[in-house]
Amino acid sequence: MSTPHEGSACTTCGACCHSYRVEFAVYELASAGGSVPDGLTEPAGGIRCRMQGTGAVPIRCTALEGRLGERAHCRIYPLRPSPCAELQEGSYGCNKARVRHGLPPLGEWLGD
Ligand code: SF4
Ligand code: SF4
Repeated sequence: MSTPHEGSACTTCGACCHSYRVEFAVYELASAGGSVPDGLTEPAGGIRCRMQGTGAVPIRCTALEGRLGERAHCRIYPLRPSPCAELQEGSYGCNKARVRHGLPPLGEWLGD
């Protein structure tokens, strides 16, 4: 999928991209045969790397464009690393990020 599906909250949200340290194995880098553009990442120790902008607060992934909760979108969506691809819209991690940034949860949210 090259973009979030039509009607998806992910087409405007970006809360997760402002919330989490996005780390993954260097094997996901384009230079290693994966997809993630090397130039948007930084070393994270050993065989790990991370998306620039997610290593310290305030977090904002360098691949995110637009304003949080309004028109935010990932400019490498089809190439994004596994932690991003695995975070499901409406999941606990999704809603935790949304609530943290003042956005309404998707579906039932019991908090933590
Ligand atoms: S926090 Fe949830 S709705 Fe927002 S961009 Fe991430 S996965 Fe999509
Ligand atoms: S790579 Fe894309 S989906 Fe992942 S945190 Fe960055 S902007 Fe968000």
